[in-house]
Amino acid sequence: LTVGADLARTARRHPDRDALVERASGRRWTYAEFDAAVDDLARGLLAAGIERGDRVGIWSPNCAEWVLAQYAAARAGAILVNLNPAYRQHEIAYALQQSGTKLLISATRVKTSDYVALVDAVRGDCPELERVVFIGTPDFDRLVASGGDVPLAELRAREAELSPEDAANIQYTSGTTGRPKGATLSHRNILGNGFQVADVQGWTADDRVCVPVPFYHCFGMVMANLGAISHGSCLVIPSPLFDPIEALDAVQAERCTVLYGVPTMFIAELAQLEAHPDRWDLSTLRTGVMAGSPCPVEVMKRVMSEMGMAEVTIAYGMTETSPVSTQTRPDDSLEHRVATVGRVHPHVEIKIVEPDTGVTVPVGTPGELCTRGYSVMLGYWNEPERTAEAVDADGWMHTGDLAEMAEDGYVSIVGRIKDMVIRGGENVYPREVEEFLYSHPDIEDVQIIGVPDERFGEELMAWVKLRPGASELTVEQLRAYCEGKLAHYKIPRYLHLVDGFPMTVTGKIRKVEMREESVKLLG
Ligand code: ATP
Ligand code: MG
Repeated sequence: LTVGADLARTARRHPDRDALVERASGRRWTYAEFDAAVDDLARGLLAAGIERGDRVGIWSPNCAEWVLAQYAAARAGAILVNLNPAYRQHEIAYALQQSGTKLLISATRVKTSDYVALVDAVRGDCPELERVVFIGTPDFDRLVASGGDVPLAELRAREAELSPEDAANIQYTSGTTGRPKGATLSHRNILGNGFQVADVQGWTADDRVCVPVPFYHCFGMVMANLGAISHGSCLVIPSPLFDPIEALDAVQAERCTVLYGVPTMFIAELAQLEAHPDRWDLSTLRTGVMAGSPCPVEVMKRVMSEMGMAEVTIAYGMTETSPVSTQTRPDDSLEHRVATVGRVHPHVEIKIVEPDTGVTVPVGTPGELCTRGYSVMLGYWNEPERTAEAVDADGWMHTGDLAEMAEDGYVSIVGRIKDMVIRGGENVYPREVEEFLYSHPDIEDVQIIGVPDERFGEELMAWVKLRPGASELTVEQLRAYCEGKLAHYKIPRYLHLVDGFPMTVTGKIRKVEMREESVKLLG
């Protein structure tokens, strides 16, 4: 099946069910209406000269047009290019040029971001960009209206040419570890994964899914949009950008059964519930997914008990694998559900290997997690060398993540390989030291990195953000705190006090940059 055909199938089964609700505008679509609106926009894309394989960019915070564009591009046989709404001039220019985007659908202005001005500033540098259409302006209506000249049969003929193996989507990775890479995903990649993620949570046409996570990332566009539409469930967009109050309001008003989020979103929602104990009725909530970065055990437990999400799951994945490779299940034991990322997903293989030799490690030993199966990307867009570094000749995607598998198949993520420090021949996993230092009463946030050292190869450095009002912390005091509680080689040699950490536009910490700065600091 292709992404567009999957929507047609659901629209035939559940024409009168709700497909999409946009809270900011109050607009809503049934499946029959949504399916027809997608056809109209897809014909507009054909009228604009979009051919099979052409790139159509979408640059906007979450809105109904995002989902319409996602399905219209799929039906027109185009490759949707997801552009992060937090991008600024340099990043948007890079992504538009690298992908060769021909038509861009863009927001105008949201909060402090003036997309019109940014598009203007880079247009001259993007020779392949023929047309820009701004959402919510007469431009957009003109694009749809121009499709009126294209017979529906022409769109159906285009759809009939498409194969599930065709590229459907280019998504740039977060750039946590370097220059972003354009992971290219097929219809089969994303439709298969969206379907499976929803299936693990047991979705049906009665489910209503609240989506505060961004659509530009797999978490939104695959795990929410494709998951919901493949199951006839309803998608609810609480707000263009994340806001914990809007998310909780949407759950209550739309009687949502499912809520998605990265850990920090759930933390913000729990804080609101604590501040206003009687404000929200969340009794309809049942399940959801927490994913994207390490999910703290305490937060998982509170989401289950205080938000009523008794069946909430944790997923682990990456853009290159469409994204999910492992997920917990509602019928797993409580211990597995809060402290692991679950077991391997249906129709996917995983193995954990010694990073240098590629030999599978014994149970309980950390190594690099590798994934193989339908969900592995076609490759990085126009970067065959980087693709060959990531996906080996046997089809295994080397994730760059360190993981451990227990005897019973449950997986725990230990950290990223690039972040692992080797001090005097001993492997140190920064996350373990960070988790320990979080227990220090004066430490609000801490990140551990390795810095070059003549004697030991590498030494540990702690970047620490102190709690407001905390007194000064010296490296001697920090070391004294660790003494006897951490093995000697895991105790940081250096301390650097900071107000914050260098971040990517998706909010992940850039240790690469921290290391560069630390080397300079140490002279
Ligand atoms: P880049 O590849 O450009 O450096 P990135 O890897 O951060 O950026 P994404 O594809 O958005 O880009 O993120 C995937 C990564 O997020 C995974 O490789 C993993 O390190 C982390 N991750 C995702 N889910 C989890 C989880 N449940 N627990 C721990 N880490 C997770
Ligand atoms: Mg990555």
